[in-house]
Amino acid sequence: MPNKEFQEALSSFCDKISDVISTDKEIAVITHIDADGIISGSIVTKALIRRNAKCVLRTVSDMNPNVLSKLKERHEFYIICDLGAGFAYKMQEVFDENYLVIDHHQLPESEMSDDKILNAWKYDMNGGTEVCAGGMAYMVASTLDSKNRDLSCLAVVAAVADRQDQGEKRSLIGLNSEIVDVAKSLGLISVDLDLMFIGRETKPLHESLAYTSFPYIDGLTWNVDSCMSLLNMAGIKLKADGKWRVLTELDEDEKGKLLEVITKFVASTSKSNNVTDELVGYIYTLLREDERSMLRDAGEFSTMLNACGRIRKAGVGAAICLGDRVSMLKQAESIVREYRNTLQKYITAIFSERWRLVDDGKIVFVNGEGLIAEDMLGAVSSLLSGSPSLYGRVLFVRTRANDGSYKFSSRKCLRCELDVNLGLLMRECSSRFNGTGGGHEAAAGGRFVGDKVEEFVTCIKENVTTA
Ligand code: C5P
Repeated sequence: MPNKEFQEALSSFCDKISDVISTDKEIAVITHIDADGIISGSIVTKALIRRNAKCVLRTVSDMNPNVLSKLKERHEFYIICDLGAGFAYKMQEVFDENYLVIDHHQLPESEMSDDKILNAWKYDMNGGTEVCAGGMAYMVASTLDSKNRDLSCLAVVAAVADRQDQGEKRSLIGLNSEIVDVAKSLGLISVDLDLMFIGRETKPLHESLAYTSFPYIDGLTWNVDSCMSLLNMAGIKLKADGKWRVLTELDEDEKGKLLEVITKFVASTSKSNNVTDELVGYIYTLLREDERSMLRDAGEFSTMLNACGRIRKAGVGAAICLGDRVSMLKQAESIVREYRNTLQKYITAIFSERWRLVDDGKIVFVNGEGLIAEDMLGAVSSLLSGSPSLYGRVLFVRTRANDGSYKFSSRKCLRCELDVNLGLLMRECSSRFNGTGGGHEAAAGGRFVGDKVEEFVTCIKENVTTA
């Protein structure tokens, strides 16, 4: 159960929302474009619609004072999701008293007692690992009306999307695991320990392996032909009765063989000889979704939402979260293809144009200038952070944004044990160059205007080296 302080805060936060609904004000839900943002915004919007509130949902790729200024006086009330940490002063200036924030990013001390902000960190919860914005939004929705507990499965997808599966065998922990229990008790999800391939119930084995991009395995990920050869080499039958087999049809012995052959492949292409921890873990099946749908598996659902946001089609993802299962789902399929092709193009360039990647064994810098579109930057760094060839490092990927500013995305790669908080580091270095930055301990971003990119990199190095 959430602690008492959190329950009290939730209750008075929801009273504020109810008051706004009763005044008939038009409420704008403003949320982030990533999967957690799309889900949290959709959960709040769904809860508002169910209360017959007047509302709109809008997504933004970044939060900064300019974005806030542009929103000024466009709507009567604002609920900001998955964004806003560090900008309370600006929100107050732009929206006056007409806003509330639901978030899980680390926030500065000055915002810890602001009662317009419902943020995990204020109530002794780790917003990086125990609950995401989707989970916080779910708590608000289910407090507003217990009928909204049917949205718990979306909050589980959000937690998976934000890689909060940090417990033993990739389990969800803290408030996330309580939300999992709710979704299970309502018969909305099942939880299994298995190989973590996408489309385990739906895709032919070789495609399932090829389209699993976390961990990113150079040579296998997105390479359907080599996945097919690898499976043949392992002696695993790809078809039965003339039909492609799916992962859930393999017996334990076959799964063991599959794991062994992948491990050997990874050992031959990188220095690591054990990927079991990354390939085996808890997976979440959304039982009410069609058995052949990409929404059936939480991991695949979250990839689809990220794809929508990153290629500027967040509305499609939001419509699906709000319940559309017809035209939007069709669009989502082509969005996922486009997203995958774009990522593949970027990753191929990064690994083949060697000047782009500088790795000293501790820190990796990737220069994506002239290559990576700004909205795709986080997706690229997330993907690279799951590459066995970069185990243990901290990763910084940069590009030039459309407005000419430098944009950085940072991640702790798998098995990184460096004691550095990337959210604080990004905030500190960005502010030194009059930019904005922040995020989580293991995933953060920043941007600044100007030409001091080498100085910015030095700031990063100093902070990581002293860690
Ligand atoms: O952009 P990227 O995906 O790398 O961001 C990683 C995390 O850091 C996200 O959760 C994002 O919301 C957060 N972030 C932030 N403040 C920024 C930039 C990113 O909180 N200025």
